[in-house]
Order: sequence, then C-alpha cells, then structure tokens
Amino acid sequence: MNRENGPRCDLHIHSCLSPCADLLMTPGNIIRQAVNQGLDYIAITDHNSAGNIEVAIELARKSGLKLIPAMEVETREEVHLLCYFSCLDALLAWEDVVCQHLPDLENDEELFGYQLLTDLSDDYIAKESRLLALATSLSLSETLEQVTNLGGIVIPAHVDRPVNSVLGQLGFVPSDGRIQAIEISRNAKLAGFLRTHPQLSHFGYVQGSDSHYLQEIGCCGGEKGFAVDAGLRRILSAVL
Ligand SMILES: [Zn+2]
Ligand SMILES: [Zn+2]
Repeated sequence: MNRENGPRCDLHIHSCLSPCADLLMTPGNIIRQAVNQGLDYIAITDHNSAGNIEVAIELARKSGLKLIPAMEVETREEVHLLCYFSCLDALLAWEDVVCQHLPDLENDEELFGYQLLTDLSDDYIAKESRLLALATSLSLSETLEQVTNLGGIVIPAHVDRPVNSVLGQLGFVPSDGRIQAIEISRNAKLAGFLRTHPQLSHFGYVQGSDSHYLQEIGCCGGEKGFAVDAGLRRILSAVL
C-alpha cells in the first residue's frame, strides 16, 4: 500500500448481477483482473443490490485485494449514487432498505439481460428475478440520510453525464456537507470538467471505470486505477 503515488482504486465495477454487465463479470474474474491490473482497492457496485458482495469479499480476502462493500443505488430522481460501507453488515442493512423501495417488477432477461448470483467457486447459482435496473422510491435526501446513519458514504456517480447523474437530473450537487466527493466518468478529463464547473472544485474526486466488461476494470481516466491521495483518503477513511 505504501506506493510512491499512493494506493490505486477502481470503486465502480458491475458484476454479472447487474443486467447490463457482461456474463464474464463474476466476482472471481473481477478480482483476478483487478489483481492483474495492480489495484489495491475495488468496489463492486451493482444496481440496487448487494447480492454478490459477500462472496466477493471472501474471494478478495484470499487474493489480498481490499474490496469495499458497496452498491450503486438509483434514487427516485433517477440519480445514480455510489454508496460505500465499512462492513458487509452495514451494506446488507442498506440493501434491506433499498429492497423495500424497489418496484416489484420481474426482470425480462431478453430485454434487460441476466441478473446472476455466484458462489465461491465462481459458478452461477441463481438468478435475481426482480428487475434491479430501476429507480427506487428513495429520494436523494433520504438516501444520504440513511447511508450516513449506517456509517457509509455517498459519492454521486458519473456527474459529467447528462442522464442519471446528479447534475443531469437536478442541476446541482447538494452542498450540505453530506457529499464530500463526486465521481467523473472514465472518459472525462478532470481539468476540463472543473473549467466548466468551477463551483464544484471544493469536492474530492474519484474516477471509476464503471466497468461492465473485464477489460475495462482499472481503466480510470486513462490510467490503471485512480490514485488515492491524502485528501481522498481522508474522505474515504470511514470505509477504507
Ligand atoms: Zn450509473
Ligand atoms: Zn455503474
């Protein structure tokens, strides 16, 4: 971890539980690829579910990789928020909340894709029948409050994107202190983004890969992983 440029992370990766992700995105494959890329921290951030995280944590532990319990939740404003927790129990408590606020619609695999759960051997063992890629009925404010109460942190996802981002949907980033860092997508350039959004310069920044395919893991802004500097480390200290 004591690298010259600090540890490197990719905190936005989808497993095969997300209907939009490739079927090869099993926890075992993700972890192998992350280790090969030289990453120190990763997070698997499936849409509105933590179904593959317990297995992923166990597999990561054996590999020496640090996996942060996480989820990408969609609020009722259709904003994607990355939620990170210090332990699996807190994430599972959050998943219970999300589950109660997710519309009860069946997944159409032909239309949306498979939602697959895996075991420690990295084999598919079940399908999640409820469609996960939907807006929940949780507001952004409720999400911030509940995740914070569980000791987690919220980082708005891909804020530079015109849809499903806090800027695209609301036009602003809440500045009440509960959000301390924001994510820009892997193809965005931070300097250019800040030139057009100087009012956001006080936030910490992460750049996740939002990987849906194995080869995308660790591709964070053209680099292998996003460097966790002292400022970001302070913000993430609750979960790292
Ligand atoms: Zn997203
Ligand atoms: Zn995502």
